Amino acid sequence: MSHFIATRRAALAQLDAFLPRAAAHYASERNTDGGTEARDNVSLLSPAVRHRLIGEDEIVRAVLDRHAFSSAEKFIQEVCWRSYWKGWLELRPQVWADYQAALRALTPDDGCRAAVEGRSGIACFDAWVAELLTTGYLHNHARMWFASIWIFTLKLPWQLGADFFYRHLLDGDPAANTLSWRWVAGLQTRGKHYLARADNIQQYTAGRFWPKGELNENATPLPPDDIPAAGRIAELPLPEAGLRTALWLHEDDLSAESWPLPEGIGVVAIGGDVDPAARSRLPVSAAVIDWTTTALADGLDRAASHFGVAAQRITTGDLQRWCDDHGIEQIVTAYATVGPVADALARRERELAARGIVLVRVRRGWDTAFWPHAGKGFFQLREKIRPLLGELGIP
Ligand SMILES: Cc1cc2nc3c(=O)[nH]c(=O)nc-3n(C[C@H](O)[C@H](O)[C@H](O)COP(=O)(O)OP(=O)(O)OC[C@H]3O[C@@H](n4cnc5c(N)ncnc54)[C@H](O)[C@@H]3O)c2cc1C
Repeated sequence: MSHFIATRRAALAQLDAFLPRAAAHYASERNTDGGTEARDNVSLLSPAVRHRLIGEDEIVRAVLDRHAFSSAEKFIQEVCWRSYWKGWLELRPQVWADYQAALRALTPDDGCRAAVEGRSGIACFDAWVAELLTTGYLHNHARMWFASIWIFTLKLPWQLGADFFYRHLLDGDPAANTLSWRWVAGLQTRGKHYLARADNIQQYTAGRFWPKGELNENATPLPPDDIPAAGRIAELPLPEAGLRTALWLHEDDLSAESWPLPEGIGVVAIGGDVDPAARSRLPVSAAVIDWTTTALADGLDRAASHFGVAAQRITTGDLQRWCDDHGIEQIVTAYATVGPVADALARRERELAARGIVLVRVRRGWDTAFWPHAGKGFFQLREKIRPLLGELGIP
């Protein structure tokens, strides 16, 4: 049975079931990857939070309702890693553009094909390929080992490995994925790479794997590339009250009922679309496509009942007719972080503007609070977690 059901209701139930284990148990056990049937040491919330079926603020609030901050600090920090990566990439969108350009210039060779087909000859690596293809998920430690073996033992381009993950992970996220691969390679923190070691794999897979003598445990980091200076998080114009307004859902945020909308916005229609195939020029897994499609349907249903307005999936070809049918003057959507969804929104914005319709993005308070603190290392942001939670009214 899949651990991952693409509805908010399922995400809330999953959070509820995990809460008792979010403090001491998580802190001591989270690094163990005991296999697909032994996942109670982690929350498995990432596909839901990545698509915002549930928010980081909700997760942290629920955890702090149950545990003291000091007991659940490790888990809360992990939740904040997502905010850190998203903020870091928002401050340096060029890193995403460079990664995309490098990918376009690469063609998978035989070595790469063998790796993604689970024919590397390294048992643990091949098992993780099978798990990823079957479940759309890997434990965090397995992701680290996998990326490290890909880069340093198999000597394959990190960009193709990141793309492979992005095409198959249900939680595939431009920031968390790309920057985690860069971190393993030693590009993110200059000169500091992550080396997978056989003994560490044996210890943290509960003895399931021990690739003794099979890994390159002495590799040096990849040569550094240019990291641009951090820019700024853009201020966003507010939606205008008084305009005939539609809400637009996309895969970066499928919970319109909790968007920070100003008073007086009259919602006349709700639409949305997902385009997971845009994650890559190579095929995206059927599981990712199914998951995001189901999650969109769930988001539209919830939005419809919250706002009392019909909600439907609108494909690109139907957008104009939908706008005309409802006399839409303004479309309000959730801010999308750097990546294919943001690119698609920018294209839509231009098309809509040509027809006199304005597209307005709203950003959640959590992102506005955390992202500006992602300019340096995670440890600077970590120090800010408690005060930022206070500012957000999370006791
Ligand atoms: C090479 C590599 C690629 C990765 N690609 C992705 C990706 O595409 N999408 C993605 O969501 N995460 C990615 N991660 C981060 C992390 O592995 C997953 O978020 C985590 O394993 C999800 O499982 P969980 O929900 O059970 O996590 P838990 O351990 O229960 O953590 C709770 C929540 O904290 C967040 N979180 C935890 N660890 C991280 C982390 N290192 N970075 C960012 N957020 C984190 C997630 O939202 C997660 O749901 C990647 C890590 C590596 C090393």
